[in-house]
Amino acid sequence: NRQWILRQRPRGLVQDGDLELVETPIPDLRPGEALVRTIYLSIDPTNRTWMNESEGYLPPVGLGEVMRGLTLGVVEQSRGERFKAGDLVMPLSGAWADYAVVPEAGLRPVHRAPGLPLTANMSVLGMTGMTAYFGVTDVLKAQAGETLVISAAAGAVGSIAGQVAKQRGCRVIGVAGGPDKCRWLTEELGFDAAVDYKNEDVGAALDRLAPDGIDLNFENVGGDIMIAVWNRLKVHGRMAVCGLISAYNATRMPPSPNFARLITHRLEVKGFLVLDYAHRAKEMVAEMGPWLTDGKIHWKVHVDDGLEGAVGSLNRLFTGDHDGKLLVRVSEE
Ligand code: NDP
Repeated sequence: NRQWILRQRPRGLVQDGDLELVETPIPDLRPGEALVRTIYLSIDPTNRTWMNESEGYLPPVGLGEVMRGLTLGVVEQSRGERFKAGDLVMPLSGAWADYAVVPEAGLRPVHRAPGLPLTANMSVLGMTGMTAYFGVTDVLKAQAGETLVISAAAGAVGSIAGQVAKQRGCRVIGVAGGPDKCRWLTEELGFDAAVDYKNEDVGAALDRLAPDGIDLNFENVGGDIMIAVWNRLKVHGRMAVCGLISAYNATRMPPSPNFARLITHRLEVKGFLVLDYAHRAKEMVAEMGPWLTDGKIHWKVHVDDGLEGAVGSLNRLFTGDHDGKLLVRVSEE
């Protein structure tokens, strides 16, 4: 059983030696436990934050511990009552490993969505879709006619969030890196406009695209992009802070918006965590399911093969060198 162990806390992008892939024996199952073979490992920006010492929404991964990660796997053996060999499951506390031995109470069953590949459970109908859906509908409470700006818009969460907002009747502007990602947003996903932050000034582009100001911001990046949007939010504008990826590898914190505007423009800013919406998954599936079947929502997954490449896969999120929800295929379905 190969496991990725955190050896030292990375500075900047994860480097060789920060984590180590070690081979360990699989322990015998005790009563009530199941042996789960990992099929997919979800590679998420937050994985990088768990490697830091600082206080987070979960405790940091300890040095010498197996790296934590969201996984989807299949039960190979069970000494419990609820699951049998062949069942698809998501462990509540998954890890960067080939196998996990988990008490059955720590497993959630996975139901394949009819007509969709299993990767949908790890993307558009999983945590990614939940974040996008509830961020737009519940946190921002986006209304028809409002102008919404989304950063990291061609990423896993951003691309779905923009499409949910379009379904709600918003005018959607995405900020993404590079002409190909921007073209995908406007030509295939139906975004009203896209700003290529790598090749144009975001503030000037927003002045051109939203001359009357911005109602809503779904923020995934932070730093200069967030400030450019913040400085153009209208009176009573609303911001959902979903992520601040530009800070996750930073050794120095990126600049923050000036809070004076919070008062002068009576802004509402709300941070949220998808974990708090876990009990509402059915609502998302009820509304998004038909959009997916009808082809109204497009989504992509980027699958890298092999647990041994997981560190390199994680670093892709910070360079943008991936196309859709990033997964590692650890073993065959
Ligand atoms: P993505 O698929 O969006 O990948 C990350 C993208 O971020 C990259 O593709 C890149 O896009 C962009 N990016 C990375 N670094 C920078 C930078 N310095 N400046 C500008 N853009 C950058 O990942 P996810 O969809 O999984 O996550 C998106 C955000 O949502 C993250 O901030 C994440 O932490 C957050 N999140 C929050 C959750 C919550 O519960 N609050 C749950 C899940 C995710 P490009 O190529 O365009 O530069």
